[in-house]
Amino acid sequence: CGMAQLLNEFDCERTLKNGTYWMPFTANRRVKEHPASRIITSAKGAYYYTAEGKPLFDTLSGLWCTPLGHGHPRIVEALKTQAETLDYCTAFQMANPVTVRLAERIAGMAPNGLDHVFFANSGSEAVDTALKIALGYHRLRGEGGRFRMIGRERGYHGVGFGGMSVGGIVPNRKMFANGMMNGVDHLRHTYDSAHMAFSKGQPAWGGEYAEDLERLIGLHDASTIAAVIVEPVQGSTGVLVPPVGYLQRLREICTKHGILLIFDEVITGFGRMGDNFASQRFNVKPDMITFAKAVTNGIVPMGGVIVSSDIYDTFMTGPKNAVEFAHGYTYSGHPLAAAVGHAVLDIMEEESLISRARSLEIILEEAIHSLADLEGIKDIRNIGLTAAIDLVPASDAPGARGLPLFELGLKNGLLLRCTGDTVSFGPPFISTTEQLQDMVETVRRLIVSVTQ
Ligand code: PLP
Repeated sequence: CGMAQLLNEFDCERTLKNGTYWMPFTANRRVKEHPASRIITSAKGAYYYTAEGKPLFDTLSGLWCTPLGHGHPRIVEALKTQAETLDYCTAFQMANPVTVRLAERIAGMAPNGLDHVFFANSGSEAVDTALKIALGYHRLRGEGGRFRMIGRERGYHGVGFGGMSVGGIVPNRKMFANGMMNGVDHLRHTYDSAHMAFSKGQPAWGGEYAEDLERLIGLHDASTIAAVIVEPVQGSTGVLVPPVGYLQRLREICTKHGILLIFDEVITGFGRMGDNFASQRFNVKPDMITFAKAVTNGIVPMGGVIVSSDIYDTFMTGPKNAVEFAHGYTYSGHPLAAAVGHAVLDIMEEESLISRARSLEIILEEAIHSLADLEGIKDIRNIGLTAAIDLVPASDAPGARGLPLFELGLKNGLLLRCTGDTVSFGPPFISTTEQLQDMVETVRRLIVSVTQ
């Protein structure tokens, strides 16, 4: 009641205009021009609602994080019950059953041999944790000279110093060039529109891009390289799908040279690829998997790293009373997040939502590729319950198509994810066939209007 009163009296538009609230990854000055259109006040199922009660279809499941939709009563109940039972507990030297059991469930969903879970609170923290585990692992094995990390162009691994450094999105790096981690190199990204435009699923061409890794090993020497980190499908830069054989080859090369392979599954984990993890979809087992987002349906922040027994066992050496890994967060394995995680996994299991994501893949694929006839479209790609469209850039302003499309989406019932000239889709697993088809038909109209 107090909060409702506070909000009733509060002028959100004015505060957005004056900039007190600095918005992340946002053109803040653009928002100030039309703040009313950017305010969401509630959400239910696959829709957000604006202050005027207008529905917006959630085309990216939040930021790829709410596959079960919004306001699920079982999740709300789990959160409330947990808050009443154990609202916080330190994870340093102490444990609680809800978090411990969630580790067991997550390990049970992961590929065999990835049996240990370390919790963080976000994808960025999960990535930094995995990079630190890789450094520690080699040092404990007497190979402390392995300090280099290999990321990939166009990769997104969050915004911590580690994730930013192994990431390959130029605008995210440029301003902070002086703060990069030492010794990071990058594989080329695997996207080539000349060979793979309008592919459905994995492109047949491009597996040989994995040989880049042998070249970097030739350049730096394997004895200096700790880990390779890649997103199995590059999500944030517009669903760049791995060519057939690419991930398998990375695995072979890493194994041959004693380099750890990390799959950043912050987007692809927990069903987005129609399997528990992309590792299973592509049948490639990494040494570590990072996760976040969907594990709690985006409701309470949580992230983490699933590690192989070899890595875990390597840390469990040395004096028994010593802390084995000097790393962790105040909110690692937060009981509220863990309770939500259980509710999410229960719902996924009981409602077979991962198989549903797999069946919806075909619907989304057909619908989205039906736009191929539009002159304003340069490429369409899809895999799992994800897809992306590249628009033909405006000749005088490359990268500028997305913002007007995004703003038009808001007026036409869609919350779109547009970056540069690319629109990405990752609808909720609870979407209906009709909702996906309607989404694509609206997108057709909007693209015609912004590109003609
Ligand atoms: N890694 C990947 C693959 C991501 O897609 C993201 C976020 O989109 C992150 C890491 C960073 O996650 P967070 O924003 O929770 O820090």
